This record gives sequence, structure tokens and C-alpha cells, in this order.
Amino acid sequence: MAVEEVPGLLLAVAVGLALKAHPEEHVEQQDRDAGAHEPRPGHPGVVVEHEHHEAREHERGGNPVADRGGEHALVVPRAWHSEPVPAALPPPTFQLEGGRVAPARVLYGGRPLAVRVRFSAPGPADVRIQIERRGGGVARRFDLRAAAPRRLVEIRWDGRGGNGREAREGRYRVRAGRRGGRLRSIGGFTFRRHVYPVRGRHWFRGAIGRFGAPRSGGRTHEGFDINARCGTPVVAARVGRVKRQRYDPVLYGNFVIVRSASERRDYWYSHLRSPARVRRGARVRTGQRLGSVGASGNARSVGCHLHFELRGRGGPFDPQPRLRAWDRFS
Ligand SMILES: [Zn+2]
Repeated sequence: MAVEEVPGLLLAVAVGLALKAHPEEHVEQQDRDAGAHEPRPGHPGVVVEHEHHEAREHERGGNPVADRGGEHALVVPRAWHSEPVPAALPPPTFQLEGGRVAPARVLYGGRPLAVRVRFSAPGPADVRIQIERRGGGVARRFDLRAAAPRRLVEIRWDGRGGNGREAREGRYRVRAGRRGGRLRSIGGFTFRRHVYPVRGRHWFRGAIGRFGAPRSGGRTHEGFDINARCGTPVVAARVGRVKRQRYDPVLYGNFVIVRSASERRDYWYSHLRSPARVRRGARVRTGQRLGSVGASGNARSVGCHLHFELRGRGGPFDPQPRLRAWDRFS
């Protein structure tokens, strides 16, 4: 198992995440950062949040509550707004002040896991953040060298182990502490490699919607039909790149094909209400919105449903077992 080491110098790369006018903007900023860090396995993004917000709020002498709606309000997420330790009385030992783990459900190829830790100590300390599978095994270990105390230290995890391979699905917990000392649990999450593509109430169309069911002209059904109300969001079941995005008036209607290079598989999403929101060549994340359930193409006589196909090197294969598995948790 590989150990990731982040030299202390990197901690100087500060991103003022907290210096945002509104909580919504704060979230968007994080998302943008997440995107920037995402495709770089082995390079955990380290973000240090400056503590200017506390100092500046006090300097200005304004009412922090009233200021929050203003253009220059400094909004600090409540969980992180702890009282600073007075400089005159440094803590005698390393002490973990808090930690946060988000989101609660991590999808491989989706928004990465973000872990934030804050500690107090007489001086810089080596911090360890460990991602552990419940039931045993360390998926990834991050060692942050000479991290500054009383600053927010953040790492991001993209779902890969130290060997670069996708981690196993399941429940995980995150522990953190001083390197060489006792680690404390700071939160948990579940990890999945796929997500169910229809994000709303859905049901099976019946035998006619199964893979291999007979179709007109001697054809057979090469996918699986998921019934849902028109307009129900359709998302990418798996991260990949858009291979085709087209309108086919005869069969598929508005359809989009997303190629999963790591799985050597194509994911087909058909009969969308309107053209997919992604262009050819674009990278889509697991769980990213592609469009809405519709009845375009030859579904116009049947009603709204998602025709979902999986194609490997041997051509299309029955996606139902996988769909059923994904549906159990997502
Ligand atoms: Zn179909």
C-alpha cells in the first residue's frame, strides 16, 4: 500500500474558500475546485483555508450576523467557526479540533470525497488522514508533512487506492490524527462505482422491455426499458466521455452514448425528451445530468421510458442484473 506524502511547502498554496458572500457561492467554489482536482490520482489536492475571516471580522467591528447578507460578508461554515486558541497560550500537545467528511455518498468518477481537518499544536505537525473500509483495510493514506496548526487542511480522494485502482464498494470511515499517534474517527461515507440512471420513481415496462425481447422486422431488443414519468432526470450511470449525441427519428430518438474507457463499455441512454445536455467528446461524471426521460424516436407510440443499453466488445448485453444492483442503493 502506497503512502502519499505531501510536503509542507504545498500548504502555502492557499485558496480562500471562506471569503465568499453567500453559502451557495461557497458550495459552487468547492465544486469547481473539486473538478480541478478530480482527474489527478496520486495528487491529493491540499487546500488550506486562511483564517483571515475571523481576524477581519473582529477588526471591522461590525455585526457579523448583519454583515452576512452584504456583498463583502465573510461567511464561515458554522462547523468551522471555532474560537481561535490565544497565541500566548499554545496547546502543549497535538490536538485534533475537528474534522469533516463529505459527501455522505461518494461515486467513483463523481464529486470526490473532501476531508477537512483542523488541529492545534505548539508548532507544525505531521498529519495523517486515513480512508478505511469498514470491516478492514486501508484504502488510502495521506500524510501531510509539517502542516500548520489552526488552519484548515483538506485532502480530496477520487476513489482510487494507492495502487491507482478503484477502491471496493461499500462503507468507509475516515480517521485522522498526528502521524505516529492515535487516529480518531472523524466521519464516514459509502462508496459506489455506479449510480442508477433514472433519478425518480420508476418501474419496469414488463417482458416487452427486457433484453432480447422480439421486435418488428426480426430485430430483438438490445437494451432494457425503464419506465418513468416524462421529465424524470436521467444521469450518467458511470463516468466517461461522450461518444455520440444525436437524434434518430426511427429508433432511439434523442440518444447519447457515453464511453467508459476503464470498463471498455458503452452506455446508451435513449428516447430522451430533448437533446442531451452534453456534447460529443465531453467528459461526464458519474451522476451528472444527461437529460430527461422522454418518448422520442419509436417510443412516441409507447410512452415515456429510458431505453438503457450496455455494449462491450462483444456487442450489447443484458443490463438488467446491473441495473437491479444499482437500484438497491441509489
Ligand atoms: Zn427499449
